[in-house]
Formats: sequence, C-alpha cells, structure tokens
Amino acid sequence: MDNYINFHTHKLSTQDGVITVYNQLLHEDAGIPKQLYSAGLHPWHADKLSAAELSRILDLHGSSSNLVALGETGLDKVCKIPIQLQQDIFELQLNKAVILRKPVIIHCVKAWEEMLEITRHYHIPMILHGYNGSDQLTANLVKRGFFFSIGPMILNPNSKIGHAIQFIPLSSVLCETDESDQSIQSVYNAARGYLKIKEPDFRRTIIENFVRLRKECEA
Ligand SMILES: [Zn+2]
Repeated sequence: MDNYINFHTHKLSTQDGVITVYNQLLHEDAGIPKQLYSAGLHPWHADKLSAAELSRILDLHGSSSNLVALGETGLDKVCKIPIQLQQDIFELQLNKAVILRKPVIIHCVKAWEEMLEITRHYHIPMILHGYNGSDQLTANLVKRGFFFSIGPMILNPNSKIGHAIQFIPLSSVLCETDESDQSIQSVYNAARGYLKIKEPDFRRTIIENFVRLRKECEA
C-alpha cells in the first residue's frame, strides 16, 4: 500500500511507511535538515529575524533538494506581534516562494480577509495548515484553490473540520500531525471516515496530491 504522508510536523522523527515533511522554524535553527522539510518564519516570531536576514536564510534553503515548501508563515491576530510586521514578513516569504518555485504553508488565525487579500496576487500553490474552518469559510477558500492540510483537530468529534471536510475537493486534501503526538494514521482514519473513502484509495489520493503540489511549482 502507498506510504502515509505527514505534511507538517515539528517533531524530528522518522517512521517506516510514512513520508514526513519536518517543519523547520527559522528563528530557532537555520540549518538545513537531512530529510524532506519546510522552512519559514512563523508569524508568532516575525520580529526575531530582520527582513534581510530572513531573505538570506531562505536563499540558502532554496538550494536544498529536500526543501518541499516555504512556511509556515501567515497572519495571526491572536498573537502579540504587530499585524503590519506579520504582513511584511508573510509577503517576503510569498515573494521568495515565487522565485524559488515552492509552495507556501500558511498559518492563519482570525485574519482570513487580510490573508485572502494578500495572497490574491500570488499564483503558487498554498496550503492552509491545521485547517479547522466553518462550512462557509471552507466553501469560500475552495473557490480560491487552496490546499487544506488536516491535523489532529479532526480527532475531536465536535470539530468544525469534521463537518466542513465534505466541501473540500479530495484533490486538495493533505494530512499532518503538527505539534501533536497523535499518529498520522489516526488523522488519516478520521478524515477518510468523514469522507467515506477506503483506506487504500485515500492513501493513494494523498500521494497524488503531494506529487501534484510539487509539480505545479516546476511548471
Ligand atoms: Zn505548525
């Protein structure tokens, strides 16, 4: 059967049968991991690197064939970092993703309008990670062509995503464990339970989405 893909995790661990995309937080460590990874300056830490420093570090990562995506980056109105600084750092990473031809992993909390306005000008694949939006929000985001990375939230029987996932095209779904210790298998099982899809079909679909995501950038 096809491998699982854990599209976004902060834990450096490997597991047989799982393709893991480790997320490197650039304010903590600018080194280049020896496995598939994404790298970005998180909005919570947008004040920890200067624009020039971040740009230089991203260029360094751009030469690694293990780099799958930039991010997570984005907007978070619940954290204390000024929103203008978050926007500047977000746009810097979007611009860099265009140059490096990489998808962007987006963290968005209570800033959907602003996020949609900023990303309107970018024609690169973008993934909303740890996605847990309402039906209405999901329908709007689907029209804009985002990928949705579903995390352990879906294990909560009352999660919004458990209901909204039916509005997401199967071709836009990815799965992740993020900071949690839950297994990627449990996230897959919950997601495919809501979608009423057999395990082999779901595993194959996620692989296809992952491959397409990376190809869209090369085109
Ligand atoms: Zn994360």
